[in-house]
Amino acid sequence: MEIVIVGAGVIGLATAWRAAAGGAAVTLVDPEPASGASAVAAGMLTPVSELTYGEEPLLRLGLASRDRYGGFVAELEDLTGLDTGYRTDGIIEVAFDSDDLGHLDDLRHFQESLGIPVEALTGRECRRAEPMLAPGVRGGLLAPEDGSIDPRRLTPALLAAGERTGVRLVRRRAAGLLVERDAAVGVRLDDGTELRADRVLLAAGPWSGDLEGLPSGTVPPVRPVKGQVIRLRARTPFIARSTRGIVQGSSVYLVPRADGEVVVGATQEELGFDTRVTAGGLWELLRDARELLPGITELEFAEVSAGLRPGSPDNAPVMGPTALPGLYVGTGHFRNGVLLTPVSADILAATLLDAPVPDVAAPFAPDRFSPEVTS
Ligand code: FAD
Repeated sequence: MEIVIVGAGVIGLATAWRAAAGGAAVTLVDPEPASGASAVAAGMLTPVSELTYGEEPLLRLGLASRDRYGGFVAELEDLTGLDTGYRTDGIIEVAFDSDDLGHLDDLRHFQESLGIPVEALTGRECRRAEPMLAPGVRGGLLAPEDGSIDPRRLTPALLAAGERTGVRLVRRRAAGLLVERDAAVGVRLDDGTELRADRVLLAAGPWSGDLEGLPSGTVPPVRPVKGQVIRLRARTPFIARSTRGIVQGSSVYLVPRADGEVVVGATQEELGFDTRVTAGGLWELLRDARELLPGITELEFAEVSAGLRPGSPDNAPVMGPTALPGLYVGTGHFRNGVLLTPVSADILAATLLDAPVPDVAAPFAPDRFSPEVTS
């Protein structure tokens, strides 16, 4: 089985590795691997804290991925000898006023109804867990099984794992899809080279629908949703675990790394393919982060960046075969692509290899949007 995967973000990289491990000859095409959202993401692994009502299938997918994470990382680190910055020290989410406390309470009841472990904390217990929290914190929730990973360590490890498993990396842009007799048979690169394959997977984030020759309606529309993040640096440990809060109606989080980096995120902006960092975005993030953890003003500034989350019409992933034979899609992971990497790679590799696909995948098939193809 020869497979071409377009896009080497976390989804394309992990799928390439898994499909190659399953016996396929995989070619991964990307002019600049891991240069999209995967290079910007904070890397919180939190199916529980990110929960929204009505998103139960996504929650199940997130939990399935979180359950796979330990084994996935162990295999990856073992194979490559590279550290991914994976940690499972929980995530704390705090509230400053009674409205937000009420919201956290609803969230806790919902999680408990699903059998998900979560602990309610008083303001004092929150500050005992995280002494740098602002004195005004009224209470919070601890999701003890959540955690984080450093996407900037994860992607080099995935690249190395792919290389060791026989994935061929082509550092070029896929410009067009090759279609013959109503089936996808490969891609054309920007230098005119044709790469032929039995199957093509589009995993190019919000650029997944950009290839020339793609029959309209085959790939659901995936829009870019801009997120700005700031990277700070602490000389001594600043917070023990990922810490979130709602400040003046907007959500802010800080994710610590073992090397002292602290990622502050994130804005959510619908501005098309715009990756400029703005004064307003930075101001908002720093203002809210300082309300949550006043001591951040002492940390060293390291970097600011913006990335584009791939958002499908229902903000859930789109994974599986399209209506065009030979063409598959793996994108739309929106705010959760890093969390969803292990389960998505299993789903997509199984689909590409005609192996049994995990049940949790069913709600995320591309045909939920557009079953018909019009060329
Ligand atoms: P991307 O990482 O965008 O990769 C797409 C790749 O396709 C790129 O490398 C690009 O070069 C390539 N490409 C594009 N066009 C072509 C072409 N024509 N030919 C070849 N290659 C092409 N998720 C979490 O789980 N936890 C978080 O805490 C989290 N925080 C986030 C914070 C921010 C600010 C942002 C922006 C995102 C965050 N996410 C988080 C979401 C996560 O980053 C994304 O869901 C995930 O990275 C998507 O991965 P991807 O592989 O689909 O796309």
